Amino acid sequence: MSVQVVSAAAAAAAKVPEVELKDLSPSEAEPQLGLSAAAVGAMVPPAGGGDPEAPAPAAERPPAPGPGSGPAAAAALSPAAGKVPQASAMKRSDPHHQHQRHRDGGEALVSPDGTVTEAPRTVKKIQFADQKQEFNKRPTKIGRRSLSRSISQSSTDSYSSAASYTDSSDDETSPRDKQQKNSKGSSDFCVKNIKQAEFGRREIEIAEQEMPALMALRKRAQGEKPLAGAKIVGCTHITAQTAVLMETLGALGAQCRWAACNIYSTLNEVAAALAESGFPVFAWKGESEDDFWWCIDRCVNVEGWQPNMILDDGGDLTHWIYKKYPNMFKKIKGIVEESVTGVHRLYQLSKAGKLCVPAMNVNDSVTKQKFDNLYCCRESILDGLKRTTDMMFGGKQVVVCGYGEVGKGCCAALKAMGSIVYVTEIDPICALQACMDGFRLVKLNEVIRQVDIVITCTGNKNVVTREHLDRMKNSCIVCNMGHSNTEIDVASLRTPELTWERVRSQVDHVIWPDGKRIVLLAEGRLLNLSCSTVPTFVLSITATTQALALIELYNAPEGRYKQDVYLLPKKMDEYVASLHLPTFDAHLTELTDEQAKYLGLNKNGPFKPNYYR
Ligand code: NAD
Repeated sequence: MSVQVVSAAAAAAAKVPEVELKDLSPSEAEPQLGLSAAAVGAMVPPAGGGDPEAPAPAAERPPAPGPGSGPAAAAALSPAAGKVPQASAMKRSDPHHQHQRHRDGGEALVSPDGTVTEAPRTVKKIQFADQKQEFNKRPTKIGRRSLSRSISQSSTDSYSSAASYTDSSDDETSPRDKQQKNSKGSSDFCVKNIKQAEFGRREIEIAEQEMPALMALRKRAQGEKPLAGAKIVGCTHITAQTAVLMETLGALGAQCRWAACNIYSTLNEVAAALAESGFPVFAWKGESEDDFWWCIDRCVNVEGWQPNMILDDGGDLTHWIYKKYPNMFKKIKGIVEESVTGVHRLYQLSKAGKLCVPAMNVNDSVTKQKFDNLYCCRESILDGLKRTTDMMFGGKQVVVCGYGEVGKGCCAALKAMGSIVYVTEIDPICALQACMDGFRLVKLNEVIRQVDIVITCTGNKNVVTREHLDRMKNSCIVCNMGHSNTEIDVASLRTPELTWERVRSQVDHVIWPDGKRIVLLAEGRLLNLSCSTVPTFVLSITATTQALALIELYNAPEGRYKQDVYLLPKKMDEYVASLHLPTFDAHLTELTDEQAKYLGLNKNGPFKPNYYR
């Protein structure tokens, strides 16, 4: 990896030109759930909160949309203003979007024609082979072993394998070489070990407890099948939470086929449980690069089955279909994309005029952003550090690079544990926020010799350089919470004079000739996703957003969404949040008619303008 410090000027130059702001006319833009009026009436909570099971009073719903609109369901969920911004209309200034645009950034590598050549969402860089893919070049057992040696185990490893008495982690046979059938005789899946299904089912049941919105969607649909006829091909992390989403989609009428978007993150038991209950799942933990694409291909290249919806996390699945099966897009009604990287790829396709179906950017929905970045990181930073190092936080000196949403979450958690927290920032506004929150704003150089922990969360590259690493004190812990593994210049540590010792899964000691060692976590990749679990409640929000986006795109009448990238309508964003409120016995205040008029709002929302982040 080349060492390159991004100057402000370079960063500015690297910005993708902003695209023209386009809004849809209200009649075009009305979102719909595609459920019958009765079903949605039961699903939409009244504006004032209260019992979410109670149907919204019809009189309080916005008027039904104009031509091209769907059932009354649509009206119940349509924004009062009726304008859905196209995602391409949004100014995107946060650095983690920008850095995706650097070809030299080691991230989303998008050539001028919109071709993406690297898949940064997967932990290991996965090169897309342009030539005809052959899936028979699998590593030998030794090859496999050396692969898993170089690849650190993912977060779920210690968690799942500790919990799993059925996990045969020393079973080196590739799932591709196994003949497996579920109890109904189907062999349309490829997982590590179908016998783990029962244990995986328990994991799914645990996740269901913390995913109230999806469970509510299942209940509120009350037999309605808004996804009847939908054939969804998905490529996401395969975890218990994804299983709850998939089973919800199934309950709403969809058929699903699924692969993993990450070669390490699959929970084998869960994949087995899904396969056992009839979902064609192709994923296991520790896939090779070749396995990764093979699994995706097995999801789409099926005799007698063609997807009509895509749910992607990272854009690899979408890209695969574009490259290998472009004709499939004739039947595909839409793409729902969850990740920054995948969304960026969609923008590129859209800009190049190559996006041939509507796409929904759920990554930028407000609810998801707030929970994923701030609240999730506030909880999982401690978890990740604790699981890998067993450290005590009180009194430790920590420097957090970047005081955006993720940085704020990390700082708040560490401060609450009694750590002494320093912050570095480039943006004076975030810097001032750090000061107002009681943190010392410093340059990294000023504290690098004294701190016990360095955490990056900038979305930038080379924030921690070899020079910083050389100056750290003995036993300093170094980790990254930002999207990519470019924040810490880990490559610069792979030099002959330094010794690497793998002391635990995901924990390396890097030792200098004088004996000094630093503790590098997850090889500089995202700490919480690599070394801990993400709170299920956070994933519930993401999954609900995905489910609603799929329903919306699948049911939208022809012409409502064009071949562009859209944000989830604000009204639905609010709906996702409202579905989670009953967990807290939270009582939402309802606008009076007078207040609604005064603020110029519909009593049922949306309560904030589309530009509200
Ligand atoms: P953000 O844009 O709100 O914050 C990033 C901050 O870093 C900004 O305030 C920016 O000014 C600052 N910054 C940029 N370069 C810097 C530098 N060289 N030194 C110091 N500060 C610098 O973004 P965010 O929502 O906080 O996300 C940050 C990163 O975390 C992104 O890469 C994002 O994809 C990732 N992320 C991780 C998780 C997770 O679970 N770990 C969740 C969400 C997002």
